[in-house]
Amino acid sequence: MRDDTWLFQKLDEIWDGHFSDIPQHNDVIIKFGRKARQRLGSIKQETKSIRDLANKNRKTIITINGLFKDPNVPEYVITATIAHEMCHYAHGFSSPLDQRFENPHQGGIVTKEMKVRGFAKALQLQKKWLKEVWPRYLEENMPARQTRQRRKRIVIRWI
Ligand SMILES: [Zn+2]
Repeated sequence: MRDDTWLFQKLDEIWDGHFSDIPQHNDVIIKFGRKARQRLGSIKQETKSIRDLANKNRKTIITINGLFKDPNVPEYVITATIAHEMCHYAHGFSSPLDQRFENPHQGGIVTKEMKVRGFAKALQLQKKWLKEVWPRYLEENMPARQTRQRRKRIVIRWI
């Protein structure tokens, strides 16, 4: 069953197998969030008060689209989503590590990092699935609310 425990196991596998050079100085949790049409995953650091910002080692929270609990969504879609968020962590975004770039998505740094770390195939399959299956999947599982101007295409945001 795809629950938060399953996600933790996936994160462990990905971290051990592909990010073993990346130290973990804080608690990192991963969980399914709400169902979403446009957001596959996100990564943030917990901030309960402005004083927390001084603490570099505050908890990191990775959230995965709740629709991905569905076993009909291929596992490589989730693998690539977790790997994407882990690249942000490795680059020092939403993590205690030194920030290596100005912006989390500048110049294709995430794609490059994913390829270097062995996710070229997962990324390619994920892209293909998002293009060919995701729009129809959403129609069946999370239809858009009818609005005056119907959205023409799906824009996928990564963070
Ligand atoms: Zn991102």
